[in-house]
Amino acid sequence: MRCPFCTAQDTRVLDSRLINEGDQVRRRRECNVCKERFTTFETVELAIPSVIKRNGIREPFEEKKLRSGMLKALEKRPVDSNAIEASLNRIKKELMDRGEREISAKELGEKIMQALRTLDHVAYVRFASVYRSFQDVSEFTDMIEDLQKK
Ligand SMILES: [Zn+2]
Repeated sequence: MRCPFCTAQDTRVLDSRLINEGDQVRRRRECNVCKERFTTFETVELAIPSVIKRNGIREPFEEKKLRSGMLKALEKRPVDSNAIEASLNRIKKELMDRGEREISAKELGEKIMQALRTLDHVAYVRFASVYRSFQDVSEFTDMIEDLQKK
């Protein structure tokens, strides 16, 4: 950690303590060069990447949108809501684990499709048909044949 007074990188930690119910670490440091003392705060960063849309516009990730997209595809399907939540959380965790600042809408869409595919085939086909904006019936039948194969 660079010293804010003399910009030396040679600093040491004098004291660490958990604050904010353990969500943050406060560290007291001392610069080994100028001997000034300063405080740093550390928090865990669980950043979900922004979504880059097809037109290049960047949008913050919205869990609400993700959930409503999935629920729409799953409408009136016999899928347990716990399974849906688990699936949503898995997608979110995957996004955080990437540790990247952005994800393309296309890639996110593929993740949602894979999640739906394991939850319910009808929902998967519904979502995919909108998402991939099928132009004709043959694309539908290809997809359904592909599902039946596996
Ligand atoms: Zn210093």
